[in-house]
Amino acid sequence: MSGIIERYRPLLPDVTDATPVITLAEGSTPLIEAPRLARWIGVPPQLRVFLKFEGMNPTGSFKDRGMTMAVSKAVETGAKVVMCASTGNTSAAASAYAARAGIASVVLLPRGEVALGKLSQALIHGAQVLAIDGNFDDALNLVRDICATHPIALVNSVNPVRIEGQKTAAFEIVDALGDAPHFHAIPVGNAGNITAYWRGYQEYHAAGRATRTPKMLGFQAFGAAPLVDGSRVHEPCTIATAIRIGNPASWKGAIAARDQSGGLIHKVTDEQIVAAYAAVAANEGIFAEPACAAPVAGLKMLAENGYFKDLPTDEPATVTVTLTGHGLKDPDRAIKTVASGIVEVAAQRDAILRQLDRFF
Ligand SMILES: *Cc1c(COP(=O)(O)O)cnc(C)c1O
Repeated sequence: MSGIIERYRPLLPDVTDATPVITLAEGSTPLIEAPRLARWIGVPPQLRVFLKFEGMNPTGSFKDRGMTMAVSKAVETGAKVVMCASTGNTSAAASAYAARAGIASVVLLPRGEVALGKLSQALIHGAQVLAIDGNFDDALNLVRDICATHPIALVNSVNPVRIEGQKTAAFEIVDALGDAPHFHAIPVGNAGNITAYWRGYQEYHAAGRATRTPKMLGFQAFGAAPLVDGSRVHEPCTIATAIRIGNPASWKGAIAARDQSGGLIHKVTDEQIVAAYAAVAANEGIFAEPACAAPVAGLKMLAENGYFKDLPTDEPATVTVTLTGHGLKDPDRAIKTVASGIVEVAAQRDAILRQLDRFF
């Protein structure tokens, strides 16, 4: 199976005949209808909910779409080392694609704040892992500074080819649905992905592949909501570590996506995020990491506030939700979330049956 560069080459002008394609067959992730979750969210019945499960990418997050581009271009220019700041998933993708290309990777992480699965990926792929006493925004400033003065390729989403690769997720959604959705809900951290989706939808619309563009609905976490609050957050705080970012690099892109699409960017609490996280897993059998639950929680909030009440009842409509990363990245959170936990029981038929009373 080919990756996003081969599948969408004509729409990726940065790729030329001189570009070596470094791929792990990323993309082609499933778009899954979620009727039980739709009822949990409380959207009106004519609004169908679809989940774009980006956790099915090779390293378990959408970051692979941008990283196949960034590492391919880095190798084209002769780079021997790539570097990124990361809340975790960028480092997992950068280290995997660097390994695939046979070059080195360096990742700068906020100490003690990266989910275990992501850390394990960077280490096993052979990245040099540096943990700093600072947050993601501090790490990104340092990486930008170092890459500007040294022969190291920067592969954060401030590198414009990352956004180009990530826009292909919007292409896949339109290809799967036959048209663009009416709404697209997405978590927002550094804001590269909302920028990328909006670009993808616009390009497909301009190319005649879709009759409309969706309203972009972005969601940040309450303690890390600079785009909602209108100013930089110095100490961002949320259990959704992938969106724990106080000064988004693609700030302007996110605001443009919101305003040009007629959408919105709102914030949800950690409590709402955790409830939505559990609801996705329990209602649909899809295990996505906590940050992915922000748009699910956000849609629930919008539905409760009557945001969808003016949709015509006799016309089907669609909302797509990007589930950005896999739940196995952060197993600690899953175990902490389920209050009932594990029941210890004797290795005995009757003892086990006593635990199953409620099923009979
Ligand atoms: C990177 C990431 C985000 C945030 O995406 P941005 O492009 O930084 O807004 C959300 N969820 C997951 C799982 C991520 O890895």
